[in-house]
Order: sequence, then C-alpha cells, then structure tokens
Amino acid sequence: MDPPTFLPKKHIAYFQRCLTLLPHPYQSEESVRLSLAFFCLGGLDVLGALDATLTDDQRQGHIDWVYAQQVTPAITTVPGTHGFRGGPFDGPLDDRVNGVNYVTANLATTYSALLSLVILGDDLARVDRKAIVRSMTYLQQPNGGIVPHPYSAECDIRFLYCACVICHLLDDWSGFDSDRAVEFIRRCQNYDGGIATSPGEESHGGMMLCATASLKLMGRLADGLPDRVAVLRWCIDRQNQGFHGRINKTDDTCYSFWVGAALKVLGHYDLIDDNRQREFLLTTQRHIGGFGKAPTEYPDVLHSYMGLVAFSMMGESGLAEIIPELNISKESYQKFLVKRCV
Ligand SMILES: [Zn+2]
Repeated sequence: MDPPTFLPKKHIAYFQRCLTLLPHPYQSEESVRLSLAFFCLGGLDVLGALDATLTDDQRQGHIDWVYAQQVTPAITTVPGTHGFRGGPFDGPLDDRVNGVNYVTANLATTYSALLSLVILGDDLARVDRKAIVRSMTYLQQPNGGIVPHPYSAECDIRFLYCACVICHLLDDWSGFDSDRAVEFIRRCQNYDGGIATSPGEESHGGMMLCATASLKLMGRLADGLPDRVAVLRWCIDRQNQGFHGRINKTDDTCYSFWVGAALKVLGHYDLIDDNRQREFLLTTQRHIGGFGKAPTEYPDVLHSYMGLVAFSMMGESGLAEIIPELNISKESYQKFLVKRCV
C-alpha cells in the first residue's frame, strides 16, 4: 500500500461542504456558528481556494451575514454586551422581554467575526469600533483577566487573547489595560513552565498560544514570561509523535497548531521534529478530506483547520503562510492593512 500523502483537494472539498451545510452533531454548537464559519473560511484561505469557491455575491452574502450578528448600542445599552454574537440562535436581535434586551456579544465570536471579515476582504468599516472598545473596559476584571460577556464568570486567558486580537485589528487598545493583562498572564504560568487557563489551574497547550500570542500583540513578549527556558521545555515535551495538550495525554491534531504556533511566536519552531509530526497528522487526515482529532475520529472543522495550519507551519507547498499570533494568513492580513490605510 502507498504511504499516505497530504490531500489538499480533498480538504478544499471538505471545507466547501461544511461552509454550506454542517452535519447534525453540530446542532448543539449553534451558538458558536460564527466560529465554525471562521474555521471553514480560514481553511479555504490557507488552501488558496477562497476565490475559486465563492462568487462575489456569495462572498458579500457571508459578509452581510456576519454583520447581521453585530450587537450595537442601538440593540442594547447593557454595558459590555457589544460586538458579535455567535449566530441567530437566540432569536431576533431586537427581541425584548419586559423592555429589556438580553442579547449579548461574546469576545470569542467577535474574534471569529473580525477574522472572518478580514479573510472575506472586508475593511471592517461597518464595525462599531467604539462600542466594542468601550465593552472591553467592562469585561476586563481587576485581576487583568477578562470575561467573554457580562453574564459570564469565565475570567481567563482565552478571552484575554481574543481581546488582544480584537484590539490589534481595530487598532485601538484604549479599552484594554495591558499592564494588568501581562500580570494576569504571569500568574497563569505554573511551576512546570506551562500556562493555565487561569491562575492555579493545570498547564494546557491551548493556553500557551493564548499567552505567547497576547504578549506578542501587546509588544511584551520579551518581559512577559521571565522563565522562557521553562516555557520552551514545556512546549517541546508535549511532542510525542504529534503533540498533546496536557501532561500524560495522547496526541491530538489540534495541539500541533496550539503548541506549534506558540513555538512559532517564540521563534523556536525549529525545535519541533517535523517528520514525526507529519507522520502523525497523516494518520488523522481523512480520505474524504479534513482531519479528526485522533486516527480513529471523524473529521471536524476545528481539527481540520488546525491540522491544515500545522502543515502550513511546516512549509507544505501550496499552502498560505500564517501569522501565528493573529491566526490568519499573511496575504489576507496584508490586503486588509492596505484597505485600512486607504
Ligand atoms: Zn483537539
């Protein structure tokens, strides 16, 4: 039997299918539909297949759908609720109960919305920047961490990272206290060198990218994590054949992205054993396109996107180069910068 090879055409077909219609297990993820769309659009972008996939009308349709999820002060005046919600799962935006509208944006889906708009070639002109920046001042907590929306108790580094990308894309950091954020990240570093979701929790590969990318975007990579050797050792120790996200766990496709991108941000991707990682990822690649989290799993859009980006980071020909701290292709980001300057 021939050894497995990387299958870009199958991946294009997979993301095209999922952008149009998702299988029924995704029903329960309706509230994060914007993030699911981002994985499909991002995947097609990395594969260089977006122009061939979408007509101008379809591209505009996607842009308009993303904007239709925007929660502005005209919808609700509750502090901290502005940005983009994850989809139309909770009904019309102007739905009110006894005169109060409980709709809220979420930092994670605002992050997905802005990146998707940039990938689609939008200049973010219709984004209510002031409202989002003002929201941030309500969401960041005294300890420097940040919650995704005002009704949430999840104060952690994932949303801190989303906030950094949002501030960077909007070119406005005035609603975000970077010094307090750096302090929060430092307290998330554990004795083993890894980074936790919030202080005192277990080190986790996903949080390593959130921490390093946030520090890079804030211009604080040099002083934000004093024990850089311990950080690098923790990252490298996560490679078995592929990568795993926590000590003593099995390899999982997505950590080739999370830990690999963190090492890219830190400038030490050369420490990865590419050949072993590639071998593992080819076992999680599915013949119908996409990647599962493990060799026995069906593909899903998150692991498919992250497996693909791992191949991009390894320099697979035909794939777009990624800016790891922003999680977007260099080409799409540069086109956006030109539009933003006009
Ligand atoms: Zn995973």
